[in-house]
Amino acid sequence: MNSDASECNDLADLSARLSGLQAPPPELAQRAIAATPNGVALLRAQEPDFPVVYANPAFCRLSGYTPAGALAFLSGDTVRNALREAAHGLRMLPMPAREGNPKQELRILPLPGTPPCFALVLIDTSELHAFREQLAYQASHDALTGLPNRKRFDENLARAMAHAGRRGDALAVLCLGVDNVNLLNESLGHAAGEQLLASVAGRLRQHLRAHDYLGRHGGNEFVIVLGEVANAHQAGQLCEQLYQALAPSLLVAGQAVHAAASIGVAMYPQDGGDAATLLRYADLALSRARSNGGGQYQLFAPEMSQRALQRIQLEAALRGALEQDQLELLYQPVADLQSGAVCAVEALVRWQHPELGLVNASQFIPVAEEAALMGTIGDWILQRACRDLRAWQAAGLAPVPVALNVSPRQFRERGLANRIAHQLAECGVAPELLTLEITEAVLTHDAQASAHTLEQLKALGLSITLDDFGTGYSSLSHLRRFPLDQVKIDCDLTRNIVAGADDAALAKTIIAMAHHLGIEVVAEGVETEAQCDFLRRNMCDRVQGYFFSTPLDAAAIATLLRDGQRLPAHLLRIQKQKRTLLLVDDETNIVSALKRLLRRDDYQILTAHNGQEGLDVLAKNAVDVIVSDQRMPGMLGADFLRAAKGLYPDTIRIMLSGYTELQSVTDAVNEGAIYKFLTKPWEDDLLRGHIAEAFRLKEIADENERLNLELRTANHDLASANRRMEELLRQKQQQISRDEVSLNIARELLQFLPLPVIGLDDEGMIAFINAAADALFRKSGALLGNEAALVLPELFPHGLVPSTSHGTDIEGLRYDVVIHPMGASSQSRGSLITFSRSEVST
Ligand code: C2E
Ligand code: CA
Ligand code: CA
Repeated sequence: MNSDASECNDLADLSARLSGLQAPPPELAQRAIAATPNGVALLRAQEPDFPVVYANPAFCRLSGYTPAGALAFLSGDTVRNALREAAHGLRMLPMPAREGNPKQELRILPLPGTPPCFALVLIDTSELHAFREQLAYQASHDALTGLPNRKRFDENLARAMAHAGRRGDALAVLCLGVDNVNLLNESLGHAAGEQLLASVAGRLRQHLRAHDYLGRHGGNEFVIVLGEVANAHQAGQLCEQLYQALAPSLLVAGQAVHAAASIGVAMYPQDGGDAATLLRYADLALSRARSNGGGQYQLFAPEMSQRALQRIQLEAALRGALEQDQLELLYQPVADLQSGAVCAVEALVRWQHPELGLVNASQFIPVAEEAALMGTIGDWILQRACRDLRAWQAAGLAPVPVALNVSPRQFRERGLANRIAHQLAECGVAPELLTLEITEAVLTHDAQASAHTLEQLKALGLSITLDDFGTGYSSLSHLRRFPLDQVKIDCDLTRNIVAGADDAALAKTIIAMAHHLGIEVVAEGVETEAQCDFLRRNMCDRVQGYFFSTPLDAAAIATLLRDGQRLPAHLLRIQKQKRTLLLVDDETNIVSALKRLLRRDDYQILTAHNGQEGLDVLAKNAVDVIVSDQRMPGMLGADFLRAAKGLYPDTIRIMLSGYTELQSVTDAVNEGAIYKFLTKPWEDDLLRGHIAEAFRLKEIADENERLNLELRTANHDLASANRRMEELLRQKQQQISRDEVSLNIARELLQFLPLPVIGLDDEGMIAFINAAADALFRKSGALLGNEAALVLPELFPHGLVPSTSHGTDIEGLRYDVVIHPMGASSQSRGSLITFSRSEVST
């Protein structure tokens, strides 16, 4: 008989019988209660004294009472009151705490029936209590640092505020952000970031005073209440002390790391009367400290909350802007300083706000970035630019490259290159027509990742411009290290190139260095002819700015391109113009006589009647030689020539004077403001000779400059070619190392292929033999490097005829031998021989 089946039957039988039982026999029940390990007491439900019927031994053992003590406790008021309450639902009574005893409770179980009774069951709740305490701790503390969390901290803050309020004291609430946690997360992993936060918590905790509170609000931020602070000034001093506490470096993931912290401070009661407001203000002040560059503290100021409110409103409106098609893309032309023609346009986004009007990019892009809207806006810009490019081409205009600005955050987004490639392909726009403008922040953030992305973009065929160069943190080494095509001199620098000697020198250095590296230079923010002229003279390649054109919409750009708008000829880099002479004299008959005299020398002659007029003429014309009288109303000739030298140092300046008192001109001569001093009345031929010589001198100087420019252009072209070569070489090298890897893989694959394979070079020598072939021919001795026909004659029954297959016997087995000549689909030569077991045995 099957034993399993019988067991089953027994069980079914037992449970049937059990369910039929009404109650255990009384004596059995008594024994069971006496033996149970839980403490149990039975009392009659009979008011007022609830007589004790029974208590089992476990009750005394667990509660620590003697039998008499247990009886006294069970008949005492505590229990009686509890049993009275039981009628109203009380089910639990804590046992009085007694030394050495764990936490215990009495569960009250009413036992209806006759007579009605209560069972009191003694339960050990110490584990439950410990668990509850742990839960409560976890609910109020941060797991990483063990500090009070937001909820607990807020309670502490409210308490501290109430206390300070009663005493009329002030408090400081600090939000402290650890600024380099993300950097650490990215470079050394999240565990390192957490370690840094935990160490900072430790430092802060050690440093705080008895009446200060520290908490963690999650993320990279800590909150601190500084008690007993007299005023904001003292709060600032305490912040300084916190910085000192954080100054020594910390050991994180085996590296010495410095915790970079920013702090925002709000004061109670000065800034706000409730905890939520104070925390919000401290947080706003923290944002300000961070946007000021971090590593500093910032006290809250009321305009911060005003600005925050505006920002929130702007953000909400910006979300709508995309849906309601309120964005516009304008293009600012860039003009070439050699040809004068438009050589590119830069796309600049605008927001046509229904109430605010036209909002500039610099006002809303930071908001879009923080609101994570920049990805969507960036895609829209790319799409729109591609569409406009196509439209210009369709209108028959010569293709003009478009430059797009890419913010650091956009640049770091994954898949940037793929998105651009996809969009270009979709619109059918050549990648050469797209330039991306990035700032140095992109290059400094994570140089390695940036270099990788730049390479991807370059591989697509895009060009890259380094924007805003020459202000803030500008490193010439970036020009060398990254694959840049252009560098853009920032508006701020351009503004001062004519007036400020330092800025002029910096601009010249940038141009020279960039050219040396084969990088083109664009100056942006060019507003005046003087700036344009400076840039032309100093070999800048391109200019962009209001002087040539403001940003325009796509249709206006089409018109401008069609009209062929250009820079005026005199502002182009290399030019040859007619010899130009300026005559300055207050006596009209002298001016006329000179003009008559010089007519046959074919100069362009300009005239002025006093120094001021002379300067005006110089401002509007490129003058080579100046001839000036000394005694004129308003300004002496010497002073005029001195001014001319300062503004137009390349001019050759001659004084022609009948005034023989020389003292006033000697200074000017000594300063080099005057090249020659001639006296009136003059001798015609002599004067003509002096002027002609002055022009020759000027032309030699011009020629020198021109040669210099040409040399630099040639150098620039050479450097640029060099750069392209280096780029190609690098790509080639990458290709080679990729090929090498695939070759190694192929070799390894062949090596472990179960099919025997032998490789021959084009002279029939065995160049390769895989493991399977080695095993097959192990009796034939060394094969590698030997001529196959000699060491394995059985393979060539008909001499060496490639591409044949035949059968042969090896080690008593029949094999099909196939010879594959190489080189049909690759550059390899020689042949591969494979062996497979023949289906037909002989
Ligand atoms: P940016 O790339 O340096 O752009 C040059 C800014 O100078 C533009 O301001 C332009 O209108 C302005 N500008 C042009 N010519 C002159 C001039 O002669 N004098 C002066 N003083 N300013 C001139 P805008 O359009 O307000 O753009 C400001 C910044 O916003 C840009 O600086 C760029 O960083 C960013 N931006 C603009 N459009 C976009 C965009 O589509 N995407 C991204 N990511 N950023 C953009
Ligand atoms: Ca730009
Ligand atoms: Ca710029």
